[in-house]
Amino acid sequence: MTKTARGSLLDIEHLDAKEITGLLQLARRMNPLKPRPLLRGKRVLLLFYEASTRTRSSFEIAAKEMDAMTTLVLSSGSSIEKGESLLDTAYTLQAVGADVMVVRHPAAGAPLLMARHLKIPVINAGDGMHEHPSQALLDAYTILRHKKKLQGLQVTIIGDIYHSRVARSAIHLLSKFGARITLCGPPELLPELATCLAPNLHISRTAEEAVRGADVVMVLRVQKERLAGLKIRLQDYIARYQMTLARMKLAKRDAMVMHPGPIIRGLEITWEVADCPQSVIVEEVANGVPVRMAILARALGKA
Ligand code: ASP
Repeated sequence: MTKTARGSLLDIEHLDAKEITGLLQLARRMNPLKPRPLLRGKRVLLLFYEASTRTRSSFEIAAKEMDAMTTLVLSSGSSIEKGESLLDTAYTLQAVGADVMVVRHPAAGAPLLMARHLKIPVINAGDGMHEHPSQALLDAYTILRHKKKLQGLQVTIIGDIYHSRVARSAIHLLSKFGARITLCGPPELLPELATCLAPNLHISRTAEEAVRGADVVMVLRVQKERLAGLKIRLQDYIARYQMTLARMKLAKRDAMVMHPGPIIRGLEITWEVADCPQSVIVEEVANGVPVRMAILARALGKA
């Protein structure tokens, strides 16, 4: 494999448990209310080819909390609209002085391609249907604030797993730490092949069965923007897989409800479940800041 700059975060699959634990410990030391100017004088370039609210704002806030300068480049309104290639855009942004590049792109592998050609570290902020490593880290961080350890936890991931980079990164991370993972969804959104992602993955086609006894229920959005060609009847999906209070009652009493957002209330999750006391959906968003502070500090050799 071609060398990439030290500090890049391209996926969870190739990180070992020690590196993940190191990042989570570093995140615990990052206090967004009492930040240290670890990145003073550094330039963080945020390059987003796809929509984002949580990831983009929390990377930006994380960088600014540590006194870095941030520049946001979106595909609309930049030379990307004029047809500039990914690598030419990346070289340009490196040439203006970026010290680290945070990139979200609809194509799987785009951050890896950039990392192979640039001298600066690249952080994957979500690439197509591949991975979303910072989301998996903040989810692990959030789970560990409520549960003692990941090992042995029964985690149910339910929804559009096929299109979900969040699911892929979560599966890699949780299985490295010995969580017991059940995936649930209709065959169009959860092919049997998904079991190849990690050892001992279990597939269930019924929400009730999947949720029974779970410690963590991670609900995923149906990614309408990636559904072209698939025959999904949303009414059927809602009837069979929507996370309702009745279904949540089958999980452990202290089960956590997670969702990477954006949540579509009334589709994959009811209003009641999204706002129930077990829901940590808002906490996940807040935890994105210290976790992304840790990722940036590590990328720039400040931790
Ligand atoms: N925000 C997450 C992502 O970018 C999940 C989603 O869009 O449903 O992958």
